[in-house]
Amino acid sequence: MDERTVQQLVGALPEGVVVTDPARTEGYRRDWTRAEDAGRPAAVVRAGCADHVRTALRWASEHRVPVVPRGAGSGLAGGATAVEGCVVVSTERMTAVEIDPANRVAVAEPGALNAAVKEAAAAHGLWYPPDPGSFRISSIGGNVATDAGGICCVKYGVTRDYVLGLDVVLPDGRLVTLGGRTVKDVAGLPLLHLFVGSEGALGIVTEVVLRLVPPQEPAATVVAYFDTPQDAGAAVVRMTARLRPSMLELLDRTTVNAVEDFRPMGLDRAAGALLVAQTDAPGPVRSADVELMADCCRATGAREVLATDDPEEGDAFLEARRAAGPALDARGPMLLEDVCVPVDRLPGVLERIQAVACEFGVEIPVVAHAGDGNLHPVIPYRPEDPNSTRRARGAFDAVMRAAIAAGGTITGEHGVGRAKRAALPEQLGPDVLELSRRIRSAVDPLGIMNPGVLWEAAPEDAAR
Ligand SMILES: Cc1cc2nc3c(=O)[nH]c(=O)nc-3n(C[C@H](O)[C@H](O)[C@H](O)COP(=O)(O)OP(=O)(O)OC[C@H]3O[C@@H](n4cnc5c(N)ncnc54)[C@H](O)[C@@H]3O)c2cc1C
Repeated sequence: MDERTVQQLVGALPEGVVVTDPARTEGYRRDWTRAEDAGRPAAVVRAGCADHVRTALRWASEHRVPVVPRGAGSGLAGGATAVEGCVVVSTERMTAVEIDPANRVAVAEPGALNAAVKEAAAAHGLWYPPDPGSFRISSIGGNVATDAGGICCVKYGVTRDYVLGLDVVLPDGRLVTLGGRTVKDVAGLPLLHLFVGSEGALGIVTEVVLRLVPPQEPAATVVAYFDTPQDAGAAVVRMTARLRPSMLELLDRTTVNAVEDFRPMGLDRAAGALLVAQTDAPGPVRSADVELMADCCRATGAREVLATDDPEEGDAFLEARRAAGPALDARGPMLLEDVCVPVDRLPGVLERIQAVACEFGVEIPVVAHAGDGNLHPVIPYRPEDPNSTRRARGAFDAVMRAAIAAGGTITGEHGVGRAKRAALPEQLGPDVLELSRRIRSAVDPLGIMNPGVLWEAAPEDAAR
């Protein structure tokens, strides 16, 4: 792109909004996947309001410049990875949050962190449940664009279940408002939910209206150690058929050891798997739930079961679970899966993952939002060693195929991004893929929005 075109964008926005200095744009090239082949942006727009986003997209449409929307860059699918010569539109400065207690909604700008929305809601005695492990570092816009899940989703649902309204800037710069502050709205096609989980491929979210609920009751916690992840998986299947836990997380032996190395917490390093379950049901039901959860663990061979009503003790196990991601990340480069299967398939898929590890000669630690059937197998590898990379890639694909074969999905909450796009055709099948392409090109006829996300940008996309 020539310098004059970039200067048109610089001139169209207030001073300081557009950044072109490569030393500063460097920090906007990658998300948490740290893609080695990330492109170099021609410019980064640090939008301060929806009008800045509109101006940037009008300019991008006029000059057919690829646009990469960016929240906080904590994505695990490569969705906020720059492509060569693109404009990155960052929402990090759009952080306002307003609470409307009468209607029990939060109205947030997209750059507000999930934690900031939770805090603002709590100040009014309300709660915003979705809690990705990254809730302290990820933005609400990014959560909406990936339909982020998390730990309490097993009972309280995912981001989609809380989005009542969105302002979205379309690729041509028009701003549309979808939904609003009402809890019910069935006027027209359900376009609101087309944008939730669309990974920045259809437009840029500039305002989000979120449903809030009364605060969660303090939870009781059951912790159980098993000889194998499959036994822990069997306990999960038993439990979810009998009650509604508010959290149900699984860590295998390698993950427990990674957490202990990262932040010692006194977990049993020798166990094959750790299951952490919580119930926030009211009074007497809670005690019955705790008993039932412990029984389910014993019935499937738990070697040790502990239960506590003390919220602080329970929080310590929650923190151990939250530390799992950073602890595994600290061990070096890895490919991170996000497969999700029907819960009753959990033990079988855990077994299949072990078989894949043997087949490809790799280690595959697993941490899972087990109550949702959502697994995060992690495949460490050495990028400088082609053989290690090849084996890791092979295992990565085999795990996704195992999830599809079990009636599940290649991604439960992180999104397809660029990291899993090769597997999307097998997941969707030709008809759904073709329908998806048609919808995308109806919204973005020039093909400028986040090209390469969801599927490889085809020559006909660029030519549109
Ligand atoms: C330690 C750790 C733990 C995590 N735990 C979880 C978890 O439990 N559950 C979970 O679901 N995820 C988890 N994640 C993944 C990640 O935090 C989520 O995907 C999050 O929603 C990304 O938000 P972000 O603001 O960082 O978005 P980014 O990484 O900046 O972007 C993510 C995607 O959204 C698009 N996007 C961002 N903002 C907008 C916008 N305003 N409009 C349109 N598109 C936009 C981008 O183009 C990209 O495709 C975790 C990540 C880390 C690092």
